[in-house]
Amino acid sequence: MKPETRNPKQTPPSALQIHRQLLAFFGPVNWRPSLTPVAELVSTILSQSTTDLNRDRAFNRLREQFGTWEAVRDGDAAGIEAAIRVAGLSRQKAPRIKAALQFITRQQGELSLDFLRAMPVAEARVWLIQMKGVGPKTASIILLFSLGMPAFPVDTHVHRTTGRLGLVPAKTSAEKAHHLLEAQLPPETYLEAHLNLIRLGREICRARNPRCEACPLQNSCAYFQHWADCG
Ligand code: SF4
Repeated sequence: MKPETRNPKQTPPSALQIHRQLLAFFGPVNWRPSLTPVAELVSTILSQSTTDLNRDRAFNRLREQFGTWEAVRDGDAAGIEAAIRVAGLSRQKAPRIKAALQFITRQQGELSLDFLRAMPVAEARVWLIQMKGVGPKTASIILLFSLGMPAFPVDTHVHRTTGRLGLVPAKTSAEKAHHLLEAQLPPETYLEAHLNLIRLGREICRARNPRCEACPLQNSCAYFQHWADCG
């Protein structure tokens, strides 16, 4: 496939229209919250540069071996590292997890992030990204998935697909894309829109060789339209 370029003459598509098209194409999203905010934080740190399967294996081993998040916080870094090795980058992730759990306890007097519910989203995000290894994506995942707050996480798939679709301008950073996408979609759509854009990116709009021929968004897509116009 040719390199990514957006035709500047093209009217940007509506994010809400794209969200509705994806919902119609993939069907309703089945998702139920299952993790506490602290568990979501640990899981998201583990997810960096690995597959969902290995993230979950590492997460389950950590829980089995330590029992509680307090035990992980107070545990031996080498033990944490060994438990999460399957997720990769364990020498980096183990101290990050431990430091984040210690930070929360120091600041709040207990190992809980439930207090964030009472904060405005922007403030809660700022609080979370104080922790090393917690960027805007991780913060938004915690806010959206475990606290039910209106934040729109932008991972590599969401960043790529929304760039190609023209929902965010070319060369927009993932960090900036969080704010741009939040402004374009109603908050009640964030969770489904986020999950469907990830699915689109994994199954169809792949980084290399996007399967445009199988994509329901051809008519809304700046990338596709540009190359169609070029013949
Ligand atoms: S048509 Fe679909 S698969 Fe092709 S670039 Fe656009 S969003 Fe991606």
